[in-house]
Amino acid sequence: MATERTLSIIKPDATERNITGKIIAMLEEGGLRVVAQKRVRWSREQAEKFYEVHKDRPFYNDLVTFMTSGPIVLQVLEGEDAVARNREIMGATNPAEAGPGTIRAEFGENIERNSVHGSDSPENAQKEIALCFDESEIVG
Ligand code: UDP
Repeated sequence: MATERTLSIIKPDATERNITGKIIAMLEEGGLRVVAQKRVRWSREQAEKFYEVHKDRPFYNDLVTFMTSGPIVLQVLEGEDAVARNREIMGATNPAEAGPGTIRAEFGENIERNSVHGSDSPENAQKEIALCFDESEIVG
């Protein structure tokens, strides 16, 4: 196993409920380290660019609207197999199918308002991190 970095986003449904600290605690307890973090509000353009891979999916427009509806917390997480580890800690996309003890089972409201994003591959992690952070903002 190698030390790796992944991009995490705490989504607007979670910032709205003031549970960012609870989510960060679950990431840290799961073995990941926050090496970069900032709270932002995305423009429509930024959200569209980030989710470009989904642009032909039926949920794309609603997803962009949701992700621009309030503040989000962007993070770079570091740890052993960080991409896969974070996906385990997050749980399945649909909170109704997420395993017990996962962030989405605990906090997700529905398949869209599912509290967190996590990169789905090391390649996408690198792209997403580069899109959201300057190298100088990442302090390992
Ligand atoms: N999403 C949605 N409806 C769906 C599937 C996904 O609104 O039917 C949203 C949801 O917020 C999800 C995001 O689009 O987290 C990206 O979808 P993906 O399939 O990449 O899931 P993830 O990698 O986030 O588990």
